[in-house]
Amino acid sequence: MSVRCGIGYDLHRLAEGRKLMIGGVEVPFDKGPVGHSDGDVLAHALTDALLGAAGLGDIGKHFPDTDPKWKGADSLKFLEHARGLLDGAGFSIDWVDAVVILERPKLGPHFPAMRAALAKSLGIAEEQISLKAKTNEGTGEIGRGEAIAAHTIATLEG
Ligand SMILES: [Zn+2]
Repeated sequence: MSVRCGIGYDLHRLAEGRKLMIGGVEVPFDKGPVGHSDGDVLAHALTDALLGAAGLGDIGKHFPDTDPKWKGADSLKFLEHARGLLDGAGFSIDWVDAVVILERPKLGPHFPAMRAALAKSLGIAEEQISLKAKTNEGTGEIGRGEAIAAHTIATLEG
């Protein structure tokens, strides 16, 4: 058995009139991510971390944004698909850690719902998922409320 880690990163611009989907949960806010799918940075970065740890490429390879099938897609579907690929390759998910970077709103109150949604999609326990949030201290695109980003790391055994 070996232990492998994968890293994931994602960023989306924020615009008015879009739902703010993070970790499969809609967070009430007046802006949301612009993207081909629902723009869920946490789900996207996590999908990349899982695929990376398993050496299975990246989210763009499996879910091209030129494919109409993924337009407006619920990004938990990406995680569920990645989980299936991991199962097929003989990997199990040991631990997931993530940080979401967003100036507003506060995400802490939504973490329990996000962990529940992510755990369900990945077939793991909520206790195997760590979520954290940071602001960008008012600097750059994120600090001005123009973007949202996420960094994730996943540890697999296989
Ligand atoms: Zn994305």
